Amino acid sequence: MIIVIHSQANSEDRTQLLALLCQASGSQRPITTTRIGGQEVIALDNNVLDAQLHLAISQQRAVECIVPIKTTYKLVSRAFKAEGSKIRVGDALGGQPVVIGGSDPVIIAGPCAVESREQLLATAHAVKAAGAQILRGGAFKPRTSPYQFQGLGLEGLHLLAEARTETGLPVITEVMEPELVELVSQYADILQIGSRNMQNFPLLRAAGQNNHGRPVMLKRGLAATIDEWLLAAEYIVAAGNPNVILCERGIRSFDPQTRNLLDLTCVPLLHELTHLPIIVDPSHATGRRELVPTMSRASIAAGAEGLILEVHPDPNSALCDGRQSITPEQLQSIVYETNLVTQILTRKAGLPYVA
Ligand code: PEP
Ligand code: MN
Repeated sequence: MIIVIHSQANSEDRTQLLALLCQASGSQRPITTTRIGGQEVIALDNNVLDAQLHLAISQQRAVECIVPIKTTYKLVSRAFKAEGSKIRVGDALGGQPVVIGGSDPVIIAGPCAVESREQLLATAHAVKAAGAQILRGGAFKPRTSPYQFQGLGLEGLHLLAEARTETGLPVITEVMEPELVELVSQYADILQIGSRNMQNFPLLRAAGQNNHGRPVMLKRGLAATIDEWLLAAEYIVAAGNPNVILCERGIRSFDPQTRNLLDLTCVPLLHELTHLPIIVDPSHATGRRELVPTMSRASIAAGAEGLILEVHPDPNSALCDGRQSITPEQLQSIVYETNLVTQILTRKAGLPYVA
């Protein structure tokens, strides 16, 4: 269930409610509230409450109403918030504002890893010229082998900030450790939580509590079910941050022909289950640059709110994920095709519409 706190509740009534909820949840952790769509809310698992406690909570002066939610995830559910969430990014650090989840898909593009000043700035300018709206680039890289390039770390964050200043593009970069959330938030417009960390619960909580209020893009775990993924998103939202973007990046499968299996079914399915916007990553999903343009079109046609694409000025020399990185020229045609598909879907093209 979701408890909606009265907008006029005084601090004494609030404290009393929070103390009761703390007791009800049986947890040592202080209860955190989240502001979603203008309401301050707290979710609880119905099963932890007996009838008496339920009644006591509903009678609290600070409670405006209680919304029953049947699914295990609550705050991220479409049952709770019917309208899709629109997440505005980019203003805070001087970039140009972008809305994820608005009427037009958003394209995020850039190198897998920030490799050098020259490489990042050249890519950032090319990404901007191609018409993408947000720059990606890993400063802290989660690599399968400890001997592979691990990223430039803090220097990479400085370069991302420089690229934002030069191009106006807001930036997204990965954070792997709870202790680094505040540092990365000083530089990044969006925090990326990677697949390997989708169930790193302390990291999810820290991202949910980040003091800068940065939105979080949560990538689907390597073999995560939709429910596990939504519950991971719920951790971030329950910790106080309503601005979560889901990213489908392919799941583990049996066929080594592609790096992962792009689960596009999840896009319309998630639109039923959650109000959070969904971005698709055809680069990590396929692992092969020649498949990226087609799967980008398919992702937009499936209703994704955007794409995240790996782009490199010279993909064959990339220090990380070159095989799946497209060139700036390919990015330009993906941006063009994304606009075409969007026009068809929204009937802006003036084509006759057949349901
Ligand atoms: C990435 O975006 O560079 C990345 C490491 O992705 P994932 O977490 O999906 O593997
Ligand atoms: Mn990558």
